[in-house]
Amino acid sequence: MTDLTFPAIYPGATIGIVGGGQLGRMTAQAAARLGYRVHILTPEKDSPAAQVATEATVAAYDDAGALKSFAKAIDIATFEFENIPLEVAEALAALVPLRPSTHCLAIAQDRVREKSFLNAQGVPTTPFAAVGSAQELARALETIGRPAVLKTATLGYDGKGQVMIEADTDAAAAFAQLGAARGMLEAFVDFDSEISVILARLDRDRVAAFDPVENRHRHHILDTTIAPAPITAELGRQAIAMAEAIAEALDLVGLLAVEMFVTPDHKLLVNEIAPRPHNSGHWTMDACITSQFEQFVRAICGLPLGNPSRHSNAVMRNLIGDDVEKVQELMADPDTKIHLYGKAEPRPGRKMGHATKLYPVDTGAPKIPLFGA
Ligand code: AMP
Repeated sequence: MTDLTFPAIYPGATIGIVGGGQLGRMTAQAAARLGYRVHILTPEKDSPAAQVATEATVAAYDDAGALKSFAKAIDIATFEFENIPLEVAEALAALVPLRPSTHCLAIAQDRVREKSFLNAQGVPTTPFAAVGSAQELARALETIGRPAVLKTATLGYDGKGQVMIEADTDAAAAFAQLGAARGMLEAFVDFDSEISVILARLDRDRVAAFDPVENRHRHHILDTTIAPAPITAELGRQAIAMAEAIAEALDLVGLLAVEMFVTPDHKLLVNEIAPRPHNSGHWTMDACITSQFEQFVRAICGLPLGNPSRHSNAVMRNLIGDDVEKVQELMADPDTKIHLYGKAEPRPGRKMGHATKLYPVDTGAPKIPLFGA
């Protein structure tokens, strides 16, 4: 390992993860395999990540004292979700190396900033407009047209904070329904499919992308990921090139997920980016030489990246709410790998785990859904 742009953090060191969810849990498991210790910071007691970590600090993110002791106890910090307050990330970055940077976080946590950044880099998105009142929304609808999607500028995930605007939807009612001071109006995309690319990056010369995958949603929540995406090789190359260009523009150190729409005329529009492990990359745990979580740890610690090649085709299905009751049945299939997140209560919409069915790599894109439809 020569020419590193920052000093590597070697196994034995402690990685601090802000956030206690399943992404933190699976990162902690990958980090432990590489010989790292993991310390979780989360307000949640008995969180999925803390259950498998070496240490946990249970405190509010804005508890300055807790943040200071957390920073003292770790060698490097990262985050498993982008909705941590930016001031908290900045305070942490002043005490300990934080990767990815607060710059990446600031862009990814605000939809208006995110899409403006993408367009400024020449990355295509659906037309959008920032709206701060019902009047601004009415004006934006005149240019963007209908149907459209109104989203909260910040703190939205899994379709939360979204209002669909149809031909007859009243703008004032839609803005009131959004329940946020800042919103973003987007032209509705009548897409053929949704795909995503996940890549790891240390610097300009060290970037490794996983194969693009297709994502199907149910009630705005990711339901199924199909790996590889049944798209042309050329479109796949374009998707990876787009993700690489975004990572380069962000000067990312870490992992980046880029969600895209494939339009009926085979064009790509970026919907969202996330500088962290992503639900649409869970299949890599069982079907790739290096998983997204191991790759994430390697990238933030400055270790050489692993090989992201796919050794199996895969269909990943999220186990949401009561889906978790199907675990026994799924386990009976020897080619299905089950991952559960240690959450006690299967509430509706709650991601309880996921199941990945593996297929031989040479059979083309798997078309068989794992269960249900
Ligand atoms: P998001 O929270 O932006 O990732 O949106 C969640 C899901 O809602 C996406 O994966 C799409 O299935 C759908 N969606 C979001 N924005 C649009 C849009 N502009 N047009 C059509 N569908 C959308």
